[in-house]
Amino acid sequence: MKSNFENLAKRIIKFRDDRNWKQFHNPKDMAISLVLESTEFLEHFQWKNNEEIEAHLKNKKKDIADELADVLYWVLLIANDLDIDLRQALDSKMIKNEIKYPVHKAKGNHLKYTELENK
Ligand SMILES: [Mg+2]
Repeated sequence: MKSNFENLAKRIIKFRDDRNWKQFHNPKDMAISLVLESTEFLEHFQWKNNEEIEAHLKNKKKDIADELADVLYWVLLIANDLDIDLRQALDSKMIKNEIKYPVHKAKGNHLKYTELENK
């Protein structure tokens, strides 16, 4: 990513503060908003086969990017309000993922980590 989380979050928080919207942003409604925006992203792929998705990705890339940005908007805002350091959280989660999905077991397959135990 070219921009760091802090700069992105600053812009979003200013956008919210300028509109006095923090009063509406409790954790429950922000979590709902995150999922709603995720489903708007998901909607781009609904009912399409692989060929149609390929064409849609070319023709609607900006719209898809908008929805992905909406998801990121809520991720950054929620992390800010819940005092979660996203960089640290991502680092920590990736360490867990690396342990769950060791390369020698996970490379080239899509099994869930619970299934890798038997490999
Ligand atoms: Mg949206």
